[in-house]
Amino acid sequence: MELDTVVVGAGAAGIGAGLALQKAARRFVILEARDRVGGRAWTESTSLGFPIDHGGQFLHSGDINPLVTVARTAGFHVPETPEDWTASSNAAPLLDDTGIRQLAHASKAFFGKLGRIDLDRPDQPVAALLPRSRWRPLLHAVMTFISGATPARASSADLAADSNTDIDLPIREGLGALVAHLARGLPVHTATPVTEIDWSRAGVRVTSTTGTLRCKHVLVTVPTNVLASGAIAFTPALPAAKQTAIAQLPQGVNEKVFVPLSGALIDGENVNAYSSVSSEDACHLQIQPFGRPCVMGYFGAEAAQEIVRLGDAGASDLLRSRLADVYGSASAKRVGNGIVTQWAQDPYALGAYSYALPGERAARDVLAEPLADRLYFAGEATYPAHYATVHGAFMSGQACVATLPAP
Ligand SMILES: Cc1cc2nc3c(=O)[nH]c(=O)nc-3n(C[C@H](O)[C@H](O)[C@H](O)COP(=O)(O)OP(=O)(O)OC[C@H]3O[C@@H](n4cnc5c(N)ncnc54)[C@H](O)[C@@H]3O)c2cc1C
Repeated sequence: MELDTVVVGAGAAGIGAGLALQKAARRFVILEARDRVGGRAWTESTSLGFPIDHGGQFLHSGDINPLVTVARTAGFHVPETPEDWTASSNAAPLLDDTGIRQLAHASKAFFGKLGRIDLDRPDQPVAALLPRSRWRPLLHAVMTFISGATPARASSADLAADSNTDIDLPIREGLGALVAHLARGLPVHTATPVTEIDWSRAGVRVTSTTGTLRCKHVLVTVPTNVLASGAIAFTPALPAAKQTAIAQLPQGVNEKVFVPLSGALIDGENVNAYSSVSSEDACHLQIQPFGRPCVMGYFGAEAAQEIVRLGDAGASDLLRSRLADVYGSASAKRVGNGIVTQWAQDPYALGAYSYALPGERAARDVLAEPLADRLYFAGEATYPAHYATVHGAFMSGQACVATLPAP
């Protein structure tokens, strides 16, 4: 029997779409390649013995993020106090008060310039806005955390058009755990990678490793690098404009290293710090999240590629030495071996989150456009106001379902 909709991918977008389809009482299924839901929002508790988020961790734009209320209502613990992982005070262990003040000034000027970009003027790469001062390397590093790309490759207008409000709220149980919680009760078929979508005529055929389904609409939520890889064959091929938009929205590389601690490294919990104020390869350190004995190092662009090459043991060594740079060599004794994430190698992710190439921010709208009232697209990359986030992906799935023709 023909389904109304097949959703491809059970990440935040697919789950947002699924909840909207369920609410509208449509006949649908979600086909998910992995043996779990959540996609790039994934919490696991095996590696360190407590929850860690390999991918999405913060509820960004916490004051306008619909998932904050959803999480609290469902009993998840979301602190009231946001974490400021771009605060100049994160450099406090490395700078004196004057240095912090100067950094705060440079950072405010840079982000202010970014926020005031006239979207009607020609776009520039983020690198063109970075100051020429001693703070350039650190701001470069921060932008690689934000985009996963070196600032020469990322559009500044795309960042300026983002509605991020800089309120970042973590979840004690994990953001991935919240997304998995939302998927309960949805008809998700896991371990079912889709290999082909034939949208040549009414009655779309979606072929996966377990067979072929017929449906009126298919809603594709896989990441842009997966679309670009050709892992899903489209018949007919996607139009040139769609393929160009996919190529203009690549995913950057962001990876995390988690290391366990034996005893507290410093006083406090959820402490944010930078590993250096003079290196483009600096990482962001999150120390003792929720008081747990661990440190997470966040790396972007080339630095992220390097830690993946190093593997678990090498990346742990690197993080130990970065911590020693900030907190002294004695700190190294408390830092054990942990794990490094592998998003860029994961065939169902192939990267962290989308950024737009300079001049190409309009590609997000092109990617979101449906084709022939049969083939629909959602996912973080399609949502210009909140791309690269879990809530943006979730809202993209819900918004996409609202545009489906009536059953
Ligand atoms: C390191 C890292 C840190 C991040 N930090 C944050 C953060 O703090 N806050 C935040 O809001 N966001 C963060 N993000 C971004 C956020 O995780 C993503 O934007 C969001 O999860 C994307 O959701 P999505 O549904 O668009 O895509 P995905 O989550 O990638 O979902 C797509 C789904 O499609 C599946 N799939 C792929 N190919 C196929 C196929 N052939 N057939 C069937 N299924 C397929 C995938 O397995 C996946 O489950 C981070 C991401 C990373 C990687």
